[in-house]
Amino acid sequence: MSLRKSKPESNITYRGRFAPSATGPLHIGSIYAALISYLDARDKEGEWLIRIDDLDTSRCKPKFTNEILECLHAFGLKASGPAIFQSDRINLYQNAFDKLSESGQLYSCFCSRKHLPRGYYPGYCRTQLGQTLLDKTTVRIDSRGMQLKFYDQIQGNFHKQSTGDFVVRRRDGLFSYQFACAVDESLDAITAVIRGIDLMPSTLMQIWIMEKLGLTIPQYAHHPILVDRLGVKLSKQTFAKPVNYSKPGQAYSVIAQILQIADYPSEDATGAIWIQFFETDVEMDQLLPKVTNLFFDSSK
Ligand code: GLU
Repeated sequence: MSLRKSKPESNITYRGRFAPSATGPLHIGSIYAALISYLDARDKEGEWLIRIDDLDTSRCKPKFTNEILECLHAFGLKASGPAIFQSDRINLYQNAFDKLSESGQLYSCFCSRKHLPRGYYPGYCRTQLGQTLLDKTTVRIDSRGMQLKFYDQIQGNFHKQSTGDFVVRRRDGLFSYQFACAVDESLDAITAVIRGIDLMPSTLMQIWIMEKLGLTIPQYAHHPILVDRLGVKLSKQTFAKPVNYSKPGQAYSVIAQILQIADYPSEDATGAIWIQFFETDVEMDQLLPKVTNLFFDSSK
């Protein structure tokens, strides 16, 4: 099933979000992700928030945060409220972590990554369950009993064999993305998470945390991602080119071409004009083709 342009039932409130990491400027793949979640929120007459994932202080920089916010603004992607910063929420995560540890399902893990097999963590340190959690150790959650499937609003049923006992708090004391993100959705009363298909396995882990904390689980939808000619996801790690935010029409027209959308505004048009075009002239189905990868030729 794909997301459709449809009127929501009047008693349903919708709140979506876009959650970039402040590890670098936005590239065309992130703009596509932001656009999809934004348009779905507008379509449902809901709210749309921007959350900056900036917990990892070794990789996240305030300079990138500023660039990302400026860029989204220039692209006409206006949030319904002030931006949210994970770095402001350490105490809230700590409270949730304390609550989670009361469930008795967290344990300290002493394994070093070097000595672990590839793939998911096989649970060697589960023998530590029930012991006090130690500082300067990785803290994992016991994943036994976890639901390994969920229904995705775009992709349908998703199933995975295991996620392993994943990390909740890193050895350096930072809360993991899976944990912080699960807590965030609840803090922000997010009802719909729309993000790239590469994050589907994360959803299982995040739902597990939410269940353990008794939090409301949002609806999930995972859209196709932009990949290069080799099928590799565009990402900051692979040095995808930043979009030019003084000319949003450049990136938007490439997105329109990839999606085979015709009669789009000029490259010189403002972000606001482009957004108006996407909102009024383009169906959600056109924005979400039934594929997992959208090829982007960066050499053009
Ligand atoms: N900051 C993460 C990323 O950029 C979070 C994505 C999400 O949960 O939407 O990959």
